Amino acid sequence: METIRHNEETLRTALISNHKDVIELYEKFSPRVKRLLEEAFRPDGTLFKPIELYSKSDWILSHPEPKQDFYTFYSSPQRKAPILRKNIIYIQTIGSFGDSEATTEMYIQWLKEYCEAFFYGLMVKFLDPVSVSQIGCVFRINTYSHNLQIRSGNILKYLKKKKPKDAFCIVGITMIDLYPEDSWNFVFGQASLTEGMGVFSFARYDDDFYTMNYKGRLTKKKHLAPDDYSVFDGYYTPPITSKLLLRSCKTLTHEIGHVFGMHHCQWLQCVMQGSNHLEESDRRPIDLCPICLRKMQCAINFDIKERYKALLRWIEEDSDPEFLARKMLISLKPMEAFKEWKEWLLQCLRFLEE
Ligand SMILES: [Zn+2]
Ligand SMILES: [Zn+2]
Repeated sequence: METIRHNEETLRTALISNHKDVIELYEKFSPRVKRLLEEAFRPDGTLFKPIELYSKSDWILSHPEPKQDFYTFYSSPQRKAPILRKNIIYIQTIGSFGDSEATTEMYIQWLKEYCEAFFYGLMVKFLDPVSVSQIGCVFRINTYSHNLQIRSGNILKYLKKKKPKDAFCIVGITMIDLYPEDSWNFVFGQASLTEGMGVFSFARYDDDFYTMNYKGRLTKKKHLAPDDYSVFDGYYTPPITSKLLLRSCKTLTHEIGHVFGMHHCQWLQCVMQGSNHLEESDRRPIDLCPICLRKMQCAINFDIKERYKALLRWIEEDSDPEFLARKMLISLKPMEAFKEWKEWLLQCLRFLEE
């Protein structure tokens, strides 16, 4: 294992910068918030940890990219902030999540409420679920893994047409595996950042995906007519577990983070770190490092302490009671995988309150 440890000065500059106007902007934070952010480079700091590399296939080693500090983000023409009347994050689900319509609705509600806490101050709405056939999506059975896959480009085209006028971005999510082109084995997701849209699959976040027990494999040799979508009826979807929810939350916020113009984080352990494989994305934390948090704060203008409180509420409390009553749903949000993060949030809040 190798640790990427930047020195104090590098991290300080990445966070605060050497540019006068950006320093002035930083000075507007309260002393408590600054104390939290500066945990990024305090030698005895405990809240944020250096990035660890485990193998040559880890993202940073296989994709050398320039580092994006706060100033680079702030001054980038690609930076995108939600503006008045264009400030809603839309989520479009494709196909089902879990074994019933009720499970799908509940799962999406958890994700919506999560995104509302993470991008604190923005509204998240979901569009009525659509099926693969409604999109008219091209599909195939993967030759190696024998599971159903849908073509991501078709979904992006659909999302582009469907994107509401008041959207900051539109994100498609599905439990069905994706592929971008015939020659590719699969893809976790595909996005067009300039157009504020993307589609992501959680299919490979199923713990069984890479094992012999995986139930999404079509065993009988089927000849599939290109417009016969009956093969999707009752098709396997991964069981809803706490780990699946954790992985989904991470992917969703990471990808929406890119829409803001945030690049992969190379400063500290952070949800914006790039990842090449599941083991690596499991390793990265669910929340932002101080440098990425400052970028997000500057785009949305939220109160940092209020955002942490909202995230803690998301862990501790049930879903919106009005929603549950209206849909006659029971939430039972599985929070086991979020325990460590809850402790971390409490620590951050203690920092901000002392
Ligand atoms: Zn990324
Ligand atoms: Zn970061």
